[in-house]
Amino acid sequence: MAPATLLQNGLIVDGTGRAGWQGDLLMRGDRIAAVTPPGKIDPGTLVSEGTPQAIDCTGLVIAPGFIDVHTHDDAAVLDGPAMLPKLSQGITTVIVGNCGISLAPVVTEAPSAPLSLLGRLQFRHASMASYADAVNAAQPAVNVAALMGHTALRMRHLADLRQAASPAERAAMAADMQEAMDAGALGLSSGIFYSEAYAADQDELVAVASVAARNGGVYATHVRDELAGILPALQEAAWTARQSGLPLVISHHKCAGPANWGRTRETLPLLEQLAEGQEIGMDVYPYTAGSTVLREDLVDGIIDILITGSQPHPEMAGRYLADIAREWGVPQPQAAVRLKPGGACYFQMREDDVERVITHPLSMIGSDGLPHDERPHPRLWGAFPRVLACYWREKGLLQLEEAVHKMTGLSARRFRLGARGVLQSGHLADVVVFDPARVKDVATFEDPQQFSDGIERVWVNGVQSYTAAQRATGARAGRFVRRGE
Ligand code: ZN
Repeated sequence: MAPATLLQNGLIVDGTGRAGWQGDLLMRGDRIAAVTPPGKIDPGTLVSEGTPQAIDCTGLVIAPGFIDVHTHDDAAVLDGPAMLPKLSQGITTVIVGNCGISLAPVVTEAPSAPLSLLGRLQFRHASMASYADAVNAAQPAVNVAALMGHTALRMRHLADLRQAASPAERAAMAADMQEAMDAGALGLSSGIFYSEAYAADQDELVAVASVAARNGGVYATHVRDELAGILPALQEAAWTARQSGLPLVISHHKCAGPANWGRTRETLPLLEQLAEGQEIGMDVYPYTAGSTVLREDLVDGIIDILITGSQPHPEMAGRYLADIAREWGVPQPQAAVRLKPGGACYFQMREDDVERVITHPLSMIGSDGLPHDERPHPRLWGAFPRVLACYWREKGLLQLEEAVHKMTGLSARRFRLGARGVLQSGHLADVVVFDPARVKDVATFEDPQQFSDGIERVWVNGVQSYTAAQRATGARAGRFVRRGE
């Protein structure tokens, strides 16, 4: 059992969004035992349970550990369980299985795109229960909650990915979905943007989503089109969720491509209107560049594209596609084909759109970091501190309490995590202490794998797992978190 720890005299920002206040927080075992005004907990009175370690938090914020609702850490938590890119941001729980992509239930030694976003080595779990066991055996430093990926279900069960599922294939997918929910999955994710899932029709999506709905799950989706067709794509997602009876989360909401810049003025009112009739949320990362597999159809000759990795040309990681194309004397799309399979950052958004989404009450923060890229998008190491530094402290577009709420309490509520995301007695002791004057992302596109500043200490399930001085403490106290737990 973890020792008792008393955090004294910090600014308690409890994750609910309510105004912060000076106070103390006591952790005992893996739980928060008390949150009180300063000095109300006398360490001497706790002797019977062991004198807690007292830590002075004067001038620092005490907040719930951040919940990264949009990750592709499915394999990273198994083969890199120290999870430093996340722990160092104050993240204590990652939600894996986004965008239709999950390890379960795919067993293969040669995963193709987009599953290869999860690396190539860990596709050995035919069920969510098997994946959950693997997480617990790996003992990652952060908690892991999981969505079942619709594209993964297709890859396991469909004879032809260019078709919608047949009734028999739908039934097989639904059976695996039920297994996932029984194993504690949060719900279903889809990525019908990707060609491997694009042929899915409503019958197929609803057949699988209804299973998640019957079991109290959620539906997170990377919608079919984030470019010109964004409005019908959002309508389709809302329809699928409504038809299945599921709360909806729009993944990494954006208006991509120069022709669509500014159109969050249309998408956000549409989502607000839809949210009057059903539960809708969205996640967002604080950058104008997206990142995914390298695809020549995303090369428009206008936006900058930065190569994050290339199997045939690993030496090109970190270089711009335009420069590579010029060097090779070929058009950019052709250079992209030569570099495939690979990954890229696409500078496809505009800052005013990012600001509108981040400040919108329906949004929460998710990094969408890609841990297997040679030179990953800096969101992998910097997304959460960047929201605090840029959108709260520098631009003043968010209140501190609001920013923290979008990383904790709101996220836990949307994804049906139980006793996490809010600092209250009885909740799991996932806690971050940060310096509000200094918290800042350091990772950049040029140098993307860097520790953030100002994250002072992190506890996972009551165990101190990171300090600014020591970096990782070596503790790995995370576990697989079942829905509602
Ligand atoms: Zn996605």
